[in-house]
Amino acid sequence: MREFVVCVCNHLDHLVVLNVNEDKTNTDITIEVHLSPLPLYKRLINAVKYVFGIRSRYGDYEEVVIDKEKAIQLKNFFENALAKENFF
Ligand SMILES: [Zn+2]
Repeated sequence: MREFVVCVCNHLDHLVVLNVNEDKTNTDITIEVHLSPLPLYKRLINAVKYVFGIRSRYGDYEEVVIDKEKAIQLKNFFENALAKENFF
């Protein structure tokens, strides 16, 4: 089961992909956040920072804005996943 949640701004770079991974014995959920493409100079700056271990103290995040409609979409997704018998 897979659900794509696009930001309320409808930009496809602001996307969360929710996956329910199932096999015969186990079910789990993964959440993937799409990484926005950046211009070359920003990627180079980020690469240099990464090499030298310089990170934001808040971590590296992009945001996806959730409105009521998207929240209901997420609620339904998790309710369906939690209803699985073998959810761990
Ligand atoms: Zn957005």
